[in-house]
Amino acid sequence: MVKVNLPETDSSSKKNKKRAHIISGCVACGACAPKCPSGSISIYKGLYAVINPEMCKGCGICAKSCAANVIRVDTATGG
Ligand code: SF4
Ligand code: SF4
Repeated sequence: MVKVNLPETDSSSKKNKKRAHIISGCVACGACAPKCPSGSISIYKGLYAVINPEMCKGCGICAKSCAANVIRVDTATGG
């Protein structure tokens, strides 16, 4: 039997990577965005924070800065 080892793709290497996401309840205070070292957070139309999962490093700094406690840092299970 011939075994073929496929090269690891970008998307598979991103699996199980930690990244932040926001649960419901963001009050758009904007405290988290300037704290993010990778600039992953923006406040969408002044309504709520959005985290770019491709840029997020999963450091958790934003979660600590959120007074509303609505940011979670979890291990992603998919692309
Ligand atoms: S976990 Fe770190 S890199 Fe990701 S959004 Fe929060 S502060 Fe930015
Ligand atoms: S610090 Fe929390 S409540 Fe404020 S904008 Fe960021 S996620 Fe929303």
